[in-house]
Amino acid sequence: MSTEIVKDIVCPQCGESQKYRLYASINAKEHKDLKQSILEETLFDWRCKRCNYFAAMAYPFVYIDNEAGFVVCVAPGGSGSTVEATPPLKAYVKRRVKNLAELKEKILIFDSKLDDVAVELVKNALCTIIRRSYNNVRLHAYFSRIEEEKLEFAIYLPRKPEPVYHSTRIEVYAQSQEVLRTLNYSDPEDFSVVDARLAKRIIEEYQNA
Ligand SMILES: [Zn+2]
Repeated sequence: MSTEIVKDIVCPQCGESQKYRLYASINAKEHKDLKQSILEETLFDWRCKRCNYFAAMAYPFVYIDNEAGFVVCVAPGGSGSTVEATPPLKAYVKRRVKNLAELKEKILIFDSKLDDVAVELVKNALCTIIRRSYNNVRLHAYFSRIEEEKLEFAIYLPRKPEPVYHSTRIEVYAQSQEVLRTLNYSDPEDFSVVDARLAKRIIEEYQNA
């Protein structure tokens, strides 16, 4: 079930009040259109019908995919969320993200039937290598797809709107799974953040083991 809320929004540019439809929860299978707008990162887009003013109206919501078995709590700007890991969600993979880009990545990872913790380890290894070829700039990498035994990542460089793509062999993913097995890594019961910082902690733990 998806939960829809209609809110009155006052346009910050022309002051016109109008309705804005937002969602407390989005069910992947019921709302393929909303899933698509997440994948296009346009879900929060809002345009004033009177003056055409454009804004991204970020709000917290929960994305649930019953078939793939995962729930993601989206909390823009680190806003607190009241979502609890209730018993019916026990068997689900539970994640917390900050924005649509991160949610999109989780969807692509889980839809590819991959483990996001292992994918973060792969990403860490890839970024360590490619950062050197980009003069050690701060870069952001997002999983994009798995193809021909390779994991492809979209790499965003500073001040470049379009990403560059880099791939890693599937063996690196298998090695990452092995690292997690060696460490007896188990997913937390609660909604957890699986990101580059977690990958760094896991690798440090592995190296010190
Ligand atoms: Zn307006």
